Amino acid sequence: MAAEVIYGSELAQSMRDEMKNEVLDLREKGIIPGLTVILIGDDPASKSYVLGKQRASEYVGVESDLITLPDSTSEEELLSLINELNNKEEVHGILVQLPLPAHINEQKVIETITPEKDVDGFHPINIGRMMTGKDTFFPCTPYGIIQMLKSKDIKIEGKHAVIIGRSNIVGKPVGQLLLNENATVTYCHSRTNDMEKYINQADILIVAVGMEHFINGDYIKDGAVVIDVGVNRTKEGTLTGDVEFESAKEKASFITPVPKGVGPMTITMLLHNTIKSAKIHNGVNS
Ligand code: NAP
Repeated sequence: MAAEVIYGSELAQSMRDEMKNEVLDLREKGIIPGLTVILIGDDPASKSYVLGKQRASEYVGVESDLITLPDSTSEEELLSLINELNNKEEVHGILVQLPLPAHINEQKVIETITPEKDVDGFHPINIGRMMTGKDTFFPCTPYGIIQMLKSKDIKIEGKHAVIIGRSNIVGKPVGQLLLNENATVTYCHSRTNDMEKYINQADILIVAVGMEHFINGDYIKDGAVVIDVGVNRTKEGTLTGDVEFESAKEKASFITPVPKGVGPMTITMLLHNTIKSAKIHNGVNS
């Protein structure tokens, strides 16, 4: 039986519509959620991600401010700008678009953003909160994946979740969030031996590697839930995932497509975190 496709694009739209109403209510109370995005240099992919964030912010009514700086910006200048924004009352979320030029220390930048405005959920304090099961700003892509599973009432508790990829922004945190939901979690990565063995045991398979069609249907367990995080550009210039969709769809019970899968959820959770921050800063209970 072919899998049901989970369209993140549809879930993202309905969540953004709800957020739009929530922001209207907040604005009536004089609270305007504010997000400041810092873009350094003119990498086309980063520019296009930032544009997507701007458009989505505008749609839900989040005040989004874009600060573009040249490649030559020094680390000191960037850190002092972040410190300024940390102290600005109207700014509830600060996002520095990654990757950064080589002369700027990414970790230092992440750690300079105050955890209270770290809407990307990358600050070690927020990661620590997540790891200890506390509420916090969760990293957007992993958090979006959890929303996608929940939107289809997919049971997480007791299931074996296998994550392929262990990056700090996707693999590790998605495993932690699944663990927090009482899944049993296995991480696979470039040094894993016999990866097929683990793939074949996965009730929930999350693939975040960044290689076109890295996984096909061959080793996927019948009825598995397959979440494809990968975004790869094909020779033809279109976007495709890490999973060979057609063969995986024949084995899975649920599957996400690329595009229109996980991607739109990432920006949606960024808006969620910004609105949440605005509420916390203004003492509004959710
Ligand atoms: P990353 O930092 O490059 O991490 C890739 C991971 O894949 C690493 O942990 C690496 O293992 C693992 N890997 C590489 N080759 C492997 C192999 N042969 N077998 C098993 N594991 C292997 O990438 P990322 O930032 O996590 O992103 C992964 C993909 O998701 C990319 O395509 C990216 O564009 C996409 N992405 C999408 C969104 C979205 O919103 N849709 C958001 C973020 C990322 P090692 O750790 O051992 O090197």
